[in-house]
Amino acid sequence: MRVFECPHCEPGGKLRLPGMSSLTRISLHPRSQGFQQSGFVAGASHSPAGRVSAHDGARDTIERISGMKRIVMPIFLASLAVNLGAMIMRLDWLTVPALLGGWYLADFASGLVHMLMDYHPCPTGRGLADMFFYEGSRESEEYLAMARARMSRLNAFERIAYDFKNHHPRPDALGRRSLWRQIGSTLIVGALPCSLALNAVALWGHAPGWLLGLGSTFILGGAFAQYFHGTLHRRDNPAFIGMLRRAHLLMTPEAHELHHISLQRDFATNCGWSNPVINALFRTLRHHGHLPDAGLIPPP
Ligand SMILES: [Zn+2]
Ligand SMILES: [Zn+2]
Repeated sequence: MRVFECPHCEPGGKLRLPGMSSLTRISLHPRSQGFQQSGFVAGASHSPAGRVSAHDGARDTIERISGMKRIVMPIFLASLAVNLGAMIMRLDWLTVPALLGGWYLADFASGLVHMLMDYHPCPTGRGLADMFFYEGSRESEEYLAMARARMSRLNAFERIAYDFKNHHPRPDALGRRSLWRQIGSTLIVGALPCSLALNAVALWGHAPGWLLGLGSTFILGGAFAQYFHGTLHRRDNPAFIGMLRRAHLLMTPEAHELHHISLQRDFATNCGWSNPVINALFRTLRHHGHLPDAGLIPPP
């Protein structure tokens, strides 16, 4: 267990981080809203006012090229509508279970990516620990300049891996991000190409209704996985989120909290149906020496 002095605590107050061999839920800083809700605390991720900064990292590539959302988002939604329209025209008795199957697969994908990104080590020698453990305001010029410099040395994959780790000590920041920042990269590299491919299969391959249903909910759930994750870290959500939670089609914040307590279980963040399988996979990988705790924390 690594222990760090907290500049905003009473004298002697400390913030703790999971060490290399054990992960333990630690006592929470009483003045930090984000800490109270997370259960996993990293050093100095809060401002003196007790509020986690919304600017929790450098603006990534997606943010800088936000103009792409005006093109990508409408094309994706139109493509998805084509798939769902073709599915409705070819409904068969397998369509409903296939819709649920696609929703399960999207949940599984969210859990698998989350597990691998949480534990995939960040590159050394990039000064990422300086950002992770920064003790001042994350809205300060010093932090923003440092974050821009550090993040510019990472490729897109490394930024995503860092972002997943950065989510643990300051989870509420994800809920404050824009929809585009949450899902833009997923749309561009995954959901949109998959949806366009399904369009081709629907229009020219005469795919059956069940296959279009399976593909549509898989793509929909995969595309919005980080948005759904973000809704678990904020209180004010659209009404449909509550409806989907009551129908058990989305998981609850209480269920997701089990992940933040230990970081060793329940990585899936859509409906959580796949978490038993993901948890078994995690235990198996750990048993064989994979996914060491050191991957959870960026190195210097
Ligand atoms: Zn995580
Ligand atoms: Zn979370």
